[in-house]
Amino acid sequence: MQILDRLYNYVNYLLKLNTLKSQLRFWGFMLVLLPCVSLMLVFTYYELQNTKREKIDNLQLMITMQHATIDKWFNERSSVIRDMTNWPVIKAQEPDIAAINDRIQQFLQSQDEFFNVGYINKDGITIVNPLAAPGRDVSDRLYYHVAKQGKEYISDVLIGRGAAAGQPVIVFSSPVFDEKGQFKGLIAGSVKLTTIDKIMQQFHFGRTGETYLVNQDGLMITESRFTDQMVKTGVIKDTSRLNLSINTEAFRLARQGQAGYAAYTDYRGHEVLGAYRWLNSRNWIIIGEVEQTEILEPFYREIGIMFVCFLTLMAASLPLSMVLANRLETPIRRLIAGADAMRTGDYSYRVEQSLIDGSVSEIRDLCNIFNYMAENISTKTETLNCANQALTEARDTALDASVAKSQFLANMSHEIRTPLNAILGMGDLLWDTSLTTEQEKYVRVSRSAGENLLNLINDILDISKVEAGHFSLDKVEFDLTDIVEKTCEILALRAHEKDIELSQYIAPGTPVNLVGDPARLRQIITNLVGNAVKFTESGEVVLEIKEGLQLQDGRLELSFIVRDTGIGIPLDKLDHIFERFTQVDASDTRKYGGTGLGLAISKHLIEMLGGSIWVESTLGAGSIFSFTALFDRGSEQARAGQLSIDCIKDQKVLIIDDNATNRLILRETLTAWGAQVDEVSSGQAGLAQLELASANDTPYSLVLLDGCMPEMDGFEVAAHIKAAPHIAGTTVMMLTSNARSGNIQRCTELGIAGYLVKPVKRSELRQSILNVLGRCQLPGASTLHDQQMTDERQQIPVKILLVEDSVDNRLLIESYLKKTSHQLDMAVNGEIAVAKFKLSRYDLVFMDMQMPVMDGYQATKAIRNWEREQGLERTPIVALTAYALQEDTAKTREMGCDAHLTKPIKKSVLLEAIARYAGGKQT
Ligand code: ADP
Repeated sequence: MQILDRLYNYVNYLLKLNTLKSQLRFWGFMLVLLPCVSLMLVFTYYELQNTKREKIDNLQLMITMQHATIDKWFNERSSVIRDMTNWPVIKAQEPDIAAINDRIQQFLQSQDEFFNVGYINKDGITIVNPLAAPGRDVSDRLYYHVAKQGKEYISDVLIGRGAAAGQPVIVFSSPVFDEKGQFKGLIAGSVKLTTIDKIMQQFHFGRTGETYLVNQDGLMITESRFTDQMVKTGVIKDTSRLNLSINTEAFRLARQGQAGYAAYTDYRGHEVLGAYRWLNSRNWIIIGEVEQTEILEPFYREIGIMFVCFLTLMAASLPLSMVLANRLETPIRRLIAGADAMRTGDYSYRVEQSLIDGSVSEIRDLCNIFNYMAENISTKTETLNCANQALTEARDTALDASVAKSQFLANMSHEIRTPLNAILGMGDLLWDTSLTTEQEKYVRVSRSAGENLLNLINDILDISKVEAGHFSLDKVEFDLTDIVEKTCEILALRAHEKDIELSQYIAPGTPVNLVGDPARLRQIITNLVGNAVKFTESGEVVLEIKEGLQLQDGRLELSFIVRDTGIGIPLDKLDHIFERFTQVDASDTRKYGGTGLGLAISKHLIEMLGGSIWVESTLGAGSIFSFTALFDRGSEQARAGQLSIDCIKDQKVLIIDDNATNRLILRETLTAWGAQVDEVSSGQAGLAQLELASANDTPYSLVLLDGCMPEMDGFEVAAHIKAAPHIAGTTVMMLTSNARSGNIQRCTELGIAGYLVKPVKRSELRQSILNVLGRCQLPGASTLHDQQMTDERQQIPVKILLVEDSVDNRLLIESYLKKTSHQLDMAVNGEIAVAKFKLSRYDLVFMDMQMPVMDGYQATKAIRNWEREQGLERTPIVALTAYALQEDTAKTREMGCDAHLTKPIKKSVLLEAIARYAGGKQT
């Protein structure tokens, strides 16, 4: 099978039969050709065998018949001579010579075969001889001796002498007996071969068929059919009898006494087929033969006819195979065209029924199935199209609904935030006034409830953004340290209220200059660290950041771990807490507030940042939330700036802190800056270490002292240091969890050089250390001194235009700025704002976006246009929006705002915005 396969492939390759049509044509043709050729070969073979067989049979029959005829001829001639011996004239006691002579003469004249007949007496003397004078002595002749023995005799062919000189004759003799039975003489007659020749010539058939007799010496007895021809062609010269030697295969085989047939070269040199037979009675051989060419003539004729028939068949098979190929190929072509039509979305194509009806059953089935399939697809497509249409309509309706929902959300957000702005703001203002303890309690509750409400609104807004797919990511360069520290700074307030240590730790070497969405990262950290603080009653909350996997595409994976020592999460809830509105304690009496949305939002944001989040927790012992996020790397220059801190290099620093995490963070940070760091976990150990260093004359340049420690707190340690003269010179910096004014006062009294609130910002720590060690000050670092400077700067008056329709909010902002030296002008809608803007110059504009008459967008646009027309410098415009959706922010930028603040706006945020955006004025 494999060989056939290969052969098939080879033929295909050789003849390039790469279309179905060519294959069908070729193999169709071959299907006719191969059986025809095979049949022809078989037929040819049998026909050849038959023709030969037939000829051989004929030849054998012929020579058998001739054999009988010759035998008969000899018998007849013998009996003629025998009869003569009984003639009365011969039998008479005294033979009458004349009478015998007469009688013989009469006999010779009555026929022409006997050449001569003579009567010989018992002594061998011819008595009567019509052709010669009597009295010749023939007693030496064989026939006389045989006759004398009383037997008849027939000679071989002899060449006659005397009258029969040169003529081939056969001598017959028969003894003559007297009445007593005594040998008295013999009759001898010589017979010409004419009759034998004739007998042989009777069997000269066709153009080349002949039979002839050969004697045992291989000489041809009878006359050859081709004597004349042979003479002409010079094969023989002498035509006399017994002169032509026959040494053919037939002769040799017959000489061995066999009878049979053979194909051989005859005495003339022609290829013949011959039958041969040994004549026992005469010791002669009879051969009948015919030239092969003549035998094969009819065969060739038949083959010729057959070949013509074959060619005709072939010629007929070509169009037949083409018709066949067409019949098979046409529907297949139609099928291909159909499949192609379907590919291009045309499902109306069908193979015609007339074509199907005329096809073979397999193709018919195929076409029927195709049509059926096409019908099905077309119906289904139609159904699908209808369904799609319905779906599109439904989607459009849903989209409309979604737009309406978003609009509703935005409106709701606006509507809720606007009064909330006033509530929270007023609460803040109230908080800053002198209150009784009871009032303080009420205000605290009110502020906290307001904050919770704001968080709730933010979460709900976020989750609806997630659902609507409205979240999109920013791609800006930011400082990870900055984000982490600022976020933790805010969260630290809550932590410190609960007396929990909150520390953040960025592993040394972690790239901090990143490109990504810092706002989203801040949101995630706020949520996770906020949760950790919320669900922890004592102990610590640590945020740890390190570099994750190296990615192929050059991006950076950071790993964030938020560890707490809080209440933990039951194992069976671990999988569910990332689902929306899922809380471990969902009871009405639950202790911790919240919506159950924070983790769902965070998870979504983390996935948007290309990372994942997971949690491990032990009930009662704490939880570890880990997540990863991908960022692009920021510029190298910025990163290098983060690392180059030479001033702290080689300084001896002692860390005194009971919290191991804090110690670790401080140690890692300071070691990375090149300092030599030692650490102890208690005040006593710290003092002992300081004493020891002093004794060894290797005092510490700096002591980082935790303010809040069990047994001996930081202030006590500082007091001890101050009291011990040999170590009193050491510079001490206090790290504490709260910045109460009393604490700062105590620090000054105890001679503490610096004061930092935990979690310690890396930049602050660096700047403070540099300050207290009396070294250079790095630009951009923020410390308590900076804070004072900022406050001072804020005192530089800035002329502000507040555009706000809400009386409450106008009042709020006015109150915020009451104690500052800023000059506030107000407009209740955009139109008035534009008019005012045209009349006087402002350093900064706060623009509410949703206002009657002319909204903030139009007003901003108008102001920008006017600035352009007048060739004025761009006045910073900060949008105040109650909508917290990203599109709104984008829209404010589009209209020409420089920044935006989302309501409710805190006093600190407002002041910071003034400081930042009216910066040009202050420098
Ligand atoms: P919320 O905190 O507003 O309830 P979250 O989605 O942030 O919503 O958290 C879902 C729930 O997961 C929380 O209610 C709390 O049961 C559990 N949870 C989250 N963080 C912690 C944590 N650090 N320790 C213990 N439980 C936690």
